[in-house]
Amino acid sequence: MQLEQQRQALPVTGCKKRLLEEIHKTDTLLIMGETGSGKTTQIPQFLLEAGFGKKGMIAVTQPRRVAAITIAKRVAQEQQCQLGELVGYTVRFEDCTTPKTRLRFMTDGFLLRDSLADSLLRNYSVIMLDEAHERTVSTDVLFGVVKMAQRKRKLLNLDPLKVIVTSATMDIDHFGQYFGVKGMYLEGRTHPVRVMHAKESQSDYLHATLVTLFEIHRNTPSNHDVLIFLTGQEEIEAMAQQIRQIAKTNLSSIAGVRVFPLYAQLPQNKQLECFLPAPPNARKIVLATNIAETSVTIPGIRCVIDAGFVKRRIYSPATGLDILRVVRISQAQAWQRCGRAGRDAPGTCYRTYTEQEMKSFEKMPTPEILRSNLCSTVLQLLALGFDCKRFEFLDKPPAEALDAAYKKLESLGAIQNVAPKPTITVLGRKMNRFPIDPQYSKLLLTASQFGCMEEMLSLVAVLSSENIYVSSVEKREQAALAHAKFHSKHGDHLTLLNVFSAFLKTEKIKLWCHDNFLNTRNLSYARDVRKQLLDIAEHLNLPINSCGDNFDQVRKCLLMGLFDNIAELQRDNFYLTITGRQRAKIHPSSVFHGKYRPEYIIFSEIVLTEKNFLRQVTEISPEWVAEVVPNFAHLSRIKVST
Ligand code: ADP
Ligand code: MG
Repeated sequence: MQLEQQRQALPVTGCKKRLLEEIHKTDTLLIMGETGSGKTTQIPQFLLEAGFGKKGMIAVTQPRRVAAITIAKRVAQEQQCQLGELVGYTVRFEDCTTPKTRLRFMTDGFLLRDSLADSLLRNYSVIMLDEAHERTVSTDVLFGVVKMAQRKRKLLNLDPLKVIVTSATMDIDHFGQYFGVKGMYLEGRTHPVRVMHAKESQSDYLHATLVTLFEIHRNTPSNHDVLIFLTGQEEIEAMAQQIRQIAKTNLSSIAGVRVFPLYAQLPQNKQLECFLPAPPNARKIVLATNIAETSVTIPGIRCVIDAGFVKRRIYSPATGLDILRVVRISQAQAWQRCGRAGRDAPGTCYRTYTEQEMKSFEKMPTPEILRSNLCSTVLQLLALGFDCKRFEFLDKPPAEALDAAYKKLESLGAIQNVAPKPTITVLGRKMNRFPIDPQYSKLLLTASQFGCMEEMLSLVAVLSSENIYVSSVEKREQAALAHAKFHSKHGDHLTLLNVFSAFLKTEKIKLWCHDNFLNTRNLSYARDVRKQLLDIAEHLNLPINSCGDNFDQVRKCLLMGLFDNIAELQRDNFYLTITGRQRAKIHPSSVFHGKYRPEYIIFSEIVLTEKNFLRQVTEISPEWVAEVVPNFAHLSRIKVST
């Protein structure tokens, strides 16, 4: 009953009739509306109730897997069905649907993969590309893919494919021109939000955020919930701990606080907690990444604290490296964040940056496709038969980024004849069968030659999952001791492999994970991923062999895919990446941190914040480079000691 009332009260409900009329009339619809107006949860249900799910499923894409899952749960609740029956979701490595499913939430990445199996997307009658303003690479590419599918279905006299593009309040003209249709605006209902800027520039935004929070806590009624925007898991967990600590020691006389982190890697049941109301006399404080910016709406928020930063994956074709970097948000994002305070009632937004500083933020975020590594995308488009240089991109990626992707794919053996016309190789097609980055599928496709298929399946599975270690502030030393048991002297990849192998042999996993400060959910997820990777490997007839204790084979095999991630120790104890010449140190979470410094290492990723860090590193021997990737060794001028 209450759910139904909430649904009726959403702004989008008033437009239901008009929406359905429009979608019957035209094949493509652009809808723009305030965040929280009900686009994501309601429009798919209107379609379902109008019978659109009968001939094919209704697909709704989300840029983030967390959003796809939480929204599917919510909608299943509203439809009063078991999740996975009428309403389900599919994200990479996780499928919660049945043949009964008519409404399927999914990541944009999954739909893109699905189009590889059928470029006409015949399983679907309607595709709603949601959160289009986020401009992820997958959504951007899907624009072109669905447009082509619509055209082909028309030519073949098949049922039309209806496409709905939904977006928060941004740049709809651009989409309109691309699809050749006009946009529809939904009336939003938001309350005024008072904006407070920092008076002077803050050198420590985390400190500024904490101070602001406790000022709010002292001076506003306890039912005004607070949403704080931070950049990622580590930052959020550290601040959550600090807030709880301060509240425990200093606030006995005022109302209590309930702190809820919200980020992608958080276990699902924890993610849902922040949607529940806080107990009376306690204030709900949600610490979130930009997931709370537009994709999910948390009820009760009256205050927003915006630190003004976001973590972005940035690819530089010049250096050939993918980099995680904490950067300033755009002005459009700042206004989105601000709006989150005015969903239920008038609110306040506190910005820990000055008004002047905000003027220097870029107006709109740069679409991801203009700043990403395009290897997977290019490979997928080639498999779909598209020539990337002629593909109808909403915004065309720079030629140098496409060229860099071609070059990398060629060096991985996935494509050939880059000039004049790149074609996908047999190996490239096989690489596409794995739903992972081409570098990693290359590892799996060559692992049997190194005799280490079992090990590589495990390693890639663990690398595909989120952090398997549990950190504990109170029991830091105990956790470190527990983790040390698994340490490999060769580095972090083999350490991960040790943990995972032990996990696979364990029966009472919950207890074992608890005792060893390991994350049961992420390890179980890795186990499922491994099973799926194994299935694909068996389909491809790859020999499933094991190298036993001869872990050098695993380390050599890593070079097959990650040769661009080699770094060399410098005299000042920094490392220099061979490709791209970036200076960085080994991340504190590494087994090498503060101890032995190997001369040559291979790393999983490079993170640039105030300091540059290489995450997950393994020692390699320079001789191997010439042996395993001779072409690269030739180019890289690695010193080989004799
Ligand atoms: P939009 O897509 O337009 O941003 P949504 O359809 O996501 O809007 O959300 C509509 C409303 O549904 C929101 O105001 C929010 O309060 C509510 N809502 C969505 N998901 C949940 C959930 N898991 N729990 C409680 N309320 C939710
Ligand atoms: Mg939405």
